[in-house]
Amino acid sequence: AKQSGRNQAHFFTAAMQEHANQRMTLEQDLRHALERDQLEVYYQPIVAGHSGRVQGVEALLRWHHPERGTIPPDQFIPMAEETGLIGKIGQWVLETACHQVQRWSAQGRELSLSVNISERQRDLGLDASAVQSILARHAIDPTRLILEITEGLLLQDSQETVTWLQGFKDLGISLAIDDFGTGYSSLSYLKRFPVDTLKIDREFIRDLNSDRYADSLVTAIISMAASLDLRLIAEGVETEAQRRTLIDQGCLFMQGYLFCPPQPADELLLWLNRYQPV
Ligand code: C2E
Ligand code: CA
Ligand code: CA
Ligand code: CA
Repeated sequence: AKQSGRNQAHFFTAAMQEHANQRMTLEQDLRHALERDQLEVYYQPIVAGHSGRVQGVEALLRWHHPERGTIPPDQFIPMAEETGLIGKIGQWVLETACHQVQRWSAQGRELSLSVNISERQRDLGLDASAVQSILARHAIDPTRLILEITEGLLLQDSQETVTWLQGFKDLGISLAIDDFGTGYSSLSYLKRFPVDTLKIDREFIRDLNSDRYADSLVTAIISMAASLDLRLIAEGVETEAQRRTLIDQGCLFMQGYLFCPPQPADELLLWLNRYQPV
């Protein structure tokens, strides 16, 4: 037993070492991803669920790794945050997406733009004036930009965060809370932070019509959003049944595979051109 214990300990150490090595390699790769042109912004439409009209797009980052294929953001954003690389990467996403949206404008497509930002970006220099100069460079009106933040940021409830976010608001930029409902549901922060939009997490949309807890939660969020005058977007809408339920309950905006998955800019334009609102 003692012998196998020692082997096991050895085995775990080797596995952990291997894991650590892989991580370090990936981290090294990420450092060069931007200059090697491996990052790409995909776009997913946000539609008015009732009319089907496309209202805007959300920018979603992809990493085309030469050996590992396309890596989804959940697998490298946390690393980018820990290493501080998110500063440069986040700036690049904003810049690229603004440029793209401006090109679509020139083609007669007026779309709002939603961009995800990490709280780490606050300490890495992303403030109102930085965003303002990007917008100005691409002649984009601040009212067309929505910055999406996760609940975690608001839970700290620091004056610093309020001031940071207020800076965006003062420019006319909108703020959305992403993955709403998954964090601590301390709703009091909604009053303290200058947010405009809630995005119901897709976990709840997935379980709509099959899980009574998800149903009541969605109903509660919809009525709360209405009474607080917050705009609402349901994420991860995949079926017509989900769309119907959401419309019946009064949720106006939606995003999900039912309409369109995130796609590269060129493909999204093709989709927009053949898309028929219902
Ligand atoms: P998110 O902001 O909650 O983005 C929505 C995610 O749901 C996206 O995953 C999207 O591809 C996926 N999705 C959309 N519709 C459906 C659907 O109908 N069904 C299902 N099952 N999934 C759907 P993605 O693109 O893998 O992004 C994951 C997360 O990575 C994002 O979650 C966001 O938090 C983060 N992220 C993406 N791009 C950026 C970025 O530029 N900066 C930062 N800080 N975070 C980013
Ligand atoms: Ca988002
Ligand atoms: Ca989300
Ligand atoms: Ca998410």
